[in-house]
Amino acid sequence: MNITKELEKSGIEPVRQLDFNEIYKISRKIIELLKNSFPNYDIKEEEILKKMFQSKIYYANISQNIGKASYFYKNSVIYIDTQVDINNLDEYVIHEIMHYLQEEKDEKGKLIKIGICKFKEFGISGFAINEAAIQYIISKMLNIKKNDVSFFGIEVKTISKHYYPLLSVLIDQIVYIVGEEALLDGILKSNNNFENAINKYYGYEEYNHIQKKFDNLLDIRQKIKKSIEEKNNTGKEQLIIKLKKNFLETQKYLYTKYFNYYLEIIENIKDIDEIKKELNEYSKIIQTQEGLKEFYEYASNLIEIMDRKSINIYRKNTKNNLAVISNSRILKIIKYIKNFFIKNKYKNEENKF
Ligand SMILES: [Zn+2]
Repeated sequence: MNITKELEKSGIEPVRQLDFNEIYKISRKIIELLKNSFPNYDIKEEEILKKMFQSKIYYANISQNIGKASYFYKNSVIYIDTQVDINNLDEYVIHEIMHYLQEEKDEKGKLIKIGICKFKEFGISGFAINEAAIQYIISKMLNIKKNDVSFFGIEVKTISKHYYPLLSVLIDQIVYIVGEEALLDGILKSNNNFENAINKYYGYEEYNHIQKKFDNLLDIRQKIKKSIEEKNNTGKEQLIIKLKKNFLETQKYLYTKYFNYYLEIIENIKDIDEIKKELNEYSKIIQTQEGLKEFYEYASNLIEIMDRKSINIYRKNTKNNLAVISNSRILKIIKYIKNFFIKNKYKNEENKF
């Protein structure tokens, strides 16, 4: 099928190509938003400008089910709806431009990468995590605050109300652990830093497992969407239950992998102290009621394990017995942290429930 036919089938009718000045205006805006949102990050301004000057952007009449913009991989053209004001870029348009900026082709012009989404001979990997990561960056660029969203009955507070709300909740937790720099490297520079950071903080080869979990959630979401479009309710409820279950499981997977791995490498009481503080901080970014309950159960167990570990570390260091330890400074610290955590737990519960 030729491109014109494919566009037609997709509901895109090109109207006119944007001129140099218009593209320059869009490029400057994107750079300005990125610089303001990530002032400490090395935004490669020249590279962005260079790529934008090579871009082809068209105003088009776009059918409603597609949205306000579409980056068409097959011809590398960005189509934006005729209603879009380029002086006031919204998340839909920026999202598609980001895809264009992420695109990497081989010498033959074959698409090999879009950020952290890789196109291989036997399929695509990392599509969902790339989408969620873009939304994370855009929510920062446009200063979008977290919103309460009910997504097929799953209540979450998310930075991305319209695009991938559940995946955005999860990516927010990953960024909390690995940091924004690694994420920006992966998304804007298409390198392996994000992948490496995930493996460093969550454990060897964890990136592959995590990206598959994201793809899996998106896959269930697509099936629900399809059943709605086809007005076919058979199995829809089951899919929604599955979506919720898999979302909660993925959330749990993320923090258990991280904290368990952290626990394995602790060496001293100071490390344990750090984990306890982090557990407390982490509880603030869990964005669902059921998720929070699960997290508290996990955290309580972990604290018990760490208490036992503290005693062993203390014993090893002092060769003392438990009777002496009971009055030690260490146990006072543990007690303090435990109380601190429990106090915050109830404070959070008041806010959440
Ligand atoms: Zn996208």
